This record gives sequence, C-alpha cells and structure tokens, in this order.
Amino acid sequence: MPQAGRLPTFTTHALGLLLILAAVPTVGQSADEAGLGLSVSRSYLPRARDGARIAARVRLDGPAELRLRVADADGRTVRELFRGRRAAGTLARSWDGRDEDGQVVPEGPYRIVASSVAVPPAQGVRPAAQADPPAPESEGQVAEAWVTVADRRVYPPRPGFITIAIDPGHGGSLDGAVGPDGTREADLNLDIGLRLARMLEGAGVTAVVTRTSDSNVNEPPLDLTADGLIDETDELAARPDVANRARADLFIAIHNNTAVNQSVGGPATLYSDERTFSERSSRLARIVQAEVLTALRGVATDAWQPYERKALTYPYYVLRDYDPPRLLRPTQMPGVLSEGLFLSNPRELRLLKQPRVRQAMAVAYYHAIAEYLAGRESHVGYASISAPSEVAAGETATFEVEVRNQGTEPMRGWHLAVSALPATSGSIGRPGGAQKVGGRRIPFVAPGRRVRLDVQVAAPEPAQPWVLLFDARDPDGGRAYRQGSPPLEVPLTTVEPAVPPTQGVAVARW
Ligand SMILES: [Zn+2]
Repeated sequence: MPQAGRLPTFTTHALGLLLILAAVPTVGQSADEAGLGLSVSRSYLPRARDGARIAARVRLDGPAELRLRVADADGRTVRELFRGRRAAGTLARSWDGRDEDGQVVPEGPYRIVASSVAVPPAQGVRPAAQADPPAPESEGQVAEAWVTVADRRVYPPRPGFITIAIDPGHGGSLDGAVGPDGTREADLNLDIGLRLARMLEGAGVTAVVTRTSDSNVNEPPLDLTADGLIDETDELAARPDVANRARADLFIAIHNNTAVNQSVGGPATLYSDERTFSERSSRLARIVQAEVLTALRGVATDAWQPYERKALTYPYYVLRDYDPPRLLRPTQMPGVLSEGLFLSNPRELRLLKQPRVRQAMAVAYYHAIAEYLAGRESHVGYASISAPSEVAAGETATFEVEVRNQGTEPMRGWHLAVSALPATSGSIGRPGGAQKVGGRRIPFVAPGRRVRLDVQVAAPEPAQPWVLLFDARDPDGGRAYRQGSPPLEVPLTTVEPAVPPTQGVAVARW
C-alpha cells in the first residue's frame, strides 16, 4: 500500500459515484502528455478573497480542439475557462474561485482540467465562435491539476512540512457497517478520506492515506503482530504502521456508524485517554466534533438535525497504547477516530449518499486540522537523515537529524534531548523508563526553515534493541512532545563490544 504523500492514480466506484483522482502535481508543470501540457500558478485559493486567482497555462504542441474548465471533485463543471479550436502555442486563463453565475464556490478540492483533441493542420484554425463542440475528453488528451479552495489554510510554512495520516476505516474484505440498501461504510469512509487528502495536498500538507482504493491496508498480507496468524488484527496494525513510518503530525481515522435502533444517530469523535499525549488527542477530538457538527447543521433539513454525541474516550485499536501481543506499535501522534453518521438511520444514510454531505464532512476535518495545528504550543518537526543501525553498547555514535520549525514564530534557545527506551516497552507511550543518552543545542531556526544537526549519542547498555527519542525542549525546558509535537523515533540495536574490557573490576550482571 502507498505510504508516499502523493496519491496514486485510481478509480473507485462508490454509490455509483465515479471519483477519479489522477496523480498529478498540484503546482507547476502538470501531466505533460503528448501534445498537451498544463501548469497552474498555485494550488490553494483563499475562498472569496477579492483578487485571489489561480493562473492556468496550457501548452499545445499542435492544432487542437481545446477545452479548459474547472470541475469539482465529482467531475461536474464549475466554470468554463476556454472552449474552442487553438493553434500550437500556449493559452493562459485564470480562475477567481467563482462559478458560471459569479457565485463563490463552496470549499473543497477542485480540478483544473485541460482536454484536447488534435485536428489535422490542413483544417487550419477557425475562430472559437465557429468551433464545433470539442469531442469528449475520453477521445483526446487530458491534463489535470488539483487545487484547494478553503476559508482557512492549514498552515504550511513550506509544502511538505506537515504530514497528516488519514485512515479511511475498513476496506477490501472488511465492509464495516452496511446499510439496508447495501451501502458500505468502507466506501463512504474512503470517499470522505480522499476528499480530505486532496484538500490538504492543495494546501501544501502531505497527506498519507492508509488506503486509496477499496482494498486491505495489510497488502500483501503479513503477520505484523508476530503471533503466527494473519488476521484482522494485522489489518488494524498496518494502519498505525503507515502513520508512524510517515512520522505524521496527526492521525485521523474516518468512520461512520451503525446501531440496532434505527433512530440512533449523530456524530461522535473518539480518542484514547491512556496515552501520554491524550490531552492533545482530547483537544483534537473536541475540535473535530465541533467542526463536524457545524458542517452537518449546514446540510441539515427540517426533518433532521444532527444529534450531538460529543467527544468521547474509547479504546479503539488504532488509538490505543502498547498492548502486547496484539498491539506492538501504537500510533505515536495525537489522533482521533471520527464516527460521522449512522448507516442504520434512514435519514442519515440518505445524507451520507449525497456527495455534498461527504464533501461537507471532509471540509469539517480540514478545518479541524487547521484549527488544531494553529493552536499547538510547539511546532517542531523532525526527520532522521542518517543513523547507524547497530552500535556497541557504551560507545558514542553520531546521528544526523533534521529539525523543522513548522510554526510562525522563530525557534531561539531550544535544545534537542535524546533518550533511549527498550524497544519492547512500546516506546514513547511510557517515557518513565527512558534514560538520557545525548543532546545538543538547536541553533536559531526561522519559521518554515529546517536545520540539520549532528547529535552525539552514547549507545545504551545492555546490548539489546532500543528506541531513541529525539524531543526538542523550549528555552524554559518545556518538552515539545508535551506541547503537541510528536518526537522523532529512531531504532537502534546495541551489541556487545567486540573486545571485552580487560581492565577494571569485572562486575557480573547475571
Ligand atoms: Zn467503522
């Protein structure tokens, strides 16, 4: 399954909806197929801000029937930017975030779509007004760029500085809840998750989706829990693994609900209260719940108003702490599991089947992420640049680490602390057992900047697998980890020194 930030090409049929998300860069040169090129000036458009525009530039290698339009995530045309016959060359048009009637479009992911059908040069070029309607897009070349229209930007000092893990619940062999008409929760979750991922990508955030099609995440199937069985627990274990590998800042699991009683309904947002960062998850849960409720009130009808089920604690596998043998690698970042609406409630099922409602829910998650990130007390990100995998216990090794300032304030007077935990302890879920093994000063880092640092680490004893935690401290000694910035985890195995010490007093450990 993909762990990369960019979404691969795929097609999914959910509820008869055809949502095609093609793998095209959102900024700069887009799909450069034979004869047709498209680039856009930016991928984020602040909604309803006068003067804000996205410039689109189309390059034609030869004469063609050309169409340039803005479509919503479902492919419906929002605005025609050009339609007619063009000679080889470039065409520039811009979009101001309004539809054909001049109305500001709703928030969401949009596509700028260029399509062309080559015409023989002998036919020449006629004025656009006389042109025949261009042939369907399926017959010619198509290039697309995705853009995000939103009121509130997820703050990215630089594209790719913030990573959000999105887990559309169930999928493949697991349907999740199934409505009386056969609607599958897995399909709804995926559709909402992909809409959210597209919006985040357009705003410069790396979105890592555990699955981008109706498939299992643990694919090819592996025994991730090392219990000799490949079962549903491995399918669940694969999801935190995706988020942890991506070093995501947040984990958002998207679900919808079911109950025996058809009248039960309303959104709930769940988090785990057994994690050291539970306070952060609780805050995220309250924000998500409020945003989802607001979004649903916006699509409410006289016959239906969302019932408030609140932000609640619940020990879902993907949110829980280390719990061997079933759960060996818990999520290492604040996270929530959102239960949107009930497929078992006829009114709510009717809503869930509408693309505009799923869009509204995706926008709600988008806003919640933006609000949470803006309110973090620290905004530190990390990446491991180089690390030895094996060091003799007691020796000093150098780790190269990148520290990123994901916030809007400069980092001045910060320190990077390194502690070691036995790899079997579930790592950062239990910081009590950590021993300090290194650290160094962090130089000044401006917002949206990164520095690479060599950090000396004394390899811990005894010889065994360890997890090193790199966690920044603010000038007052406050731990970035406690302030909402997940630490960097680097595995390290310490081995017995090659030559046993020959001096000093031999102290038997055993
Ligand atoms: Zn579910």
